[in-house]
Amino acid sequence: MVEASPAERDPFRPPTVPVIVHCLHCDQEYESYLIHWVEDAIESDSPGFWCCPTPGCDGKGFGFDIFPIDPDYRDEHGNLMWMEDDDDEDYDEVDEYVDREREVEDREVDAGRQPPVEDAEDDIPW
Ligand SMILES: [Zn+2]
Repeated sequence: MVEASPAERDPFRPPTVPVIVHCLHCDQEYESYLIHWVEDAIESDSPGFWCCPTPGCDGKGFGFDIFPIDPDYRDEHGNLMWMEDDDDEDYDEVDEYVDREREVEDREVDAGRQPPVEDAEDDIPW
């Protein structure tokens, strides 16, 4: 098994077959093969990122800041780029869950001797 490079494993890598893309940051249109990999030695949790080719633009990632202009564009797996609502919902749920946990923690600290509201509701037998 060949080890893929960080660039090849990045979920925001440009497609194998170049398409015309539009960058949300600099508002430029260009071919996706111009998106270049930038190695990031500072952020230890990320080996690098795919970056917009426009000088001075910090647009990053195909499908993140840089999108194909064709609304019917499909990736190598035949998935529509513009139909990723399901994924977005998943992310929202995770965010909400984390927020809720944080709220509970805050309340436990603030409430002192009083039990958190959630615990009181759990005792109701239905
Ligand atoms: Zn750009």
